Amino acid sequence: MKIDFHQNFIDGAWIDPVDGGTIPIYEPATGEPFGLIAASGAADVDLAVNAARRAFDDGAWGRTTATERGRLLTRFADLILQNAAELSAIEAKDTGKPQSVADADIAALARYFEFYGGAADKLHGEVIPYLSGYHVNVVREPHGVTGHILPWNYPAQMFGRTLAPSLAVGNATVLKPAEDACASSLRLAELASEAGFPEGAINVVAGTGHVAGAALASHRGVDFMSFTGSPEVGQIIQKLCADHYITCTLELGGKSPHLVFADADLDAAVPVIVKAITQNSGQTCSAGSRVLVERTILDKFAALLAAAFAKVRVGAPEMDLDCGPIITRKQQQRVQGFIDRAREDGVAVISEGEIAEGAAAGGFYVKPVVFGPVPRSHAIALDEVFGPVLTVLPFEDEADALRLANATEYGLVAAIWTRDGGRQLRLAKRIRSGQLFINCYGAGAGIELPFGGAGKSGHGREKGFAALHDFSKTKTLVFHHG
Ligand code: NAP
Ligand code: MG
Repeated sequence: MKIDFHQNFIDGAWIDPVDGGTIPIYEPATGEPFGLIAASGAADVDLAVNAARRAFDDGAWGRTTATERGRLLTRFADLILQNAAELSAIEAKDTGKPQSVADADIAALARYFEFYGGAADKLHGEVIPYLSGYHVNVVREPHGVTGHILPWNYPAQMFGRTLAPSLAVGNATVLKPAEDACASSLRLAELASEAGFPEGAINVVAGTGHVAGAALASHRGVDFMSFTGSPEVGQIIQKLCADHYITCTLELGGKSPHLVFADADLDAAVPVIVKAITQNSGQTCSAGSRVLVERTILDKFAALLAAAFAKVRVGAPEMDLDCGPIITRKQQQRVQGFIDRAREDGVAVISEGEIAEGAAAGGFYVKPVVFGPVPRSHAIALDEVFGPVLTVLPFEDEADALRLANATEYGLVAAIWTRDGGRQLRLAKRIRSGQLFINCYGAGAGIELPFGGAGKSGHGREKGFAALHDFSKTKTLVFHHG
């Protein structure tokens, strides 16, 4: 098999890592290695941050107008769509996603650049009435150099989610993709340059989190950090940022609930609930991983869910089934560990999917499962599994449902399934989450929709115009004209 070596993309060019180290990358569907990436160190991150600094302070990028940036982002969106088949194939091979899911991810990636391309020249300042003889403007400015650390679950989409708003505002960027899924980011850096982004505007440095990622978050030349990944690493990032007085957005996952009341349209709810946990094999920060069900309909709901979930099939990208493999052997073992512990503790199983015939024996596959009724204090009811594992918990009444919805440390997304309008509003006001869906669910949906968490799910907002605010800061200009 041909093993390609991918260099870092710094200052508009491909370059080798300073000390020459490499890391193999694997295909989750087979477990086979298919490439090498740079094992970048602090010296490589330094080169990238300095390139971004020059681009922002003195280079062509720092002189672009908002209109020019909008056009560049839009041109990049078009180029992504022209190269969609190639990008989607890279993404499917690198992450194991079913081919149609990878296709949808590339369409979403293009949409990020299209949306923020259109928004670039629509971020305006304000005039504030002040004392007699004064004029006050509040203008929005980029931070300068922004650092971005990506997870492996939606690498191409995340490239767009974090870079597009930052570039629209005018920041120069340095991105460290996850070592377990970085192929699309490297190819996209090259495509961005083809679209016309000047040197230093987008730099991509591959490597491990604890070396390259930590070097980026602690670099004194970085003015703002955007991180998506685990709560544990999120805390490390926030502390590294605090050491040099910068802020960050943290998107750290969740244990997002569906609240299903007795009056809900169950035929509409069940397929959506199945998709919300099987999409991307449950490796979605906003996966709907807990179903809270009014006790009076528990049996009826469980029967409908069991029938639908039993049809879930797992296989390789080209089989294009409901789920692909888990990203790595290590994550597969982590997810399987949660399942095995729940079984050992005697938690009942409502339904299981199947690994399809023809899925390679060496692939990182997990059999999807629904547990229920799950005891409220069991780990599987409280911790993020990040796999195709759904938990069902009964509740007694509206107050109990609310208590249960807010009973984890997370607060990212929630859904309420009821026809009662008063209940929809009462709960919407009191559930802890950054997004709330009523009689629908949209894991990762909607580039236009502000997204982010509370508590262990993190802080800051991505997507929509909210991201433009996080990636910029205000400056207040006070003129005394007499
Ligand atoms: P992770 O360790 O938090 O990795 C996320 C990113 O942070 C990767 O680019 C990683 O680099 C980097 N990183 C790791 N340690 C770092 C450090 N000390 N300093 C700076 N950067 C660092 O997540 P994971 O181990 O891949 O997954 C573990 C769990 O995290 C999952 O089971 C899931 O619960 C959660 N997770 C959540 C999301 C989400 O969307 N919110 C995404 C992925 C994972 P390398 O991987 O290259 O070392
Ligand atoms: Mg990979």
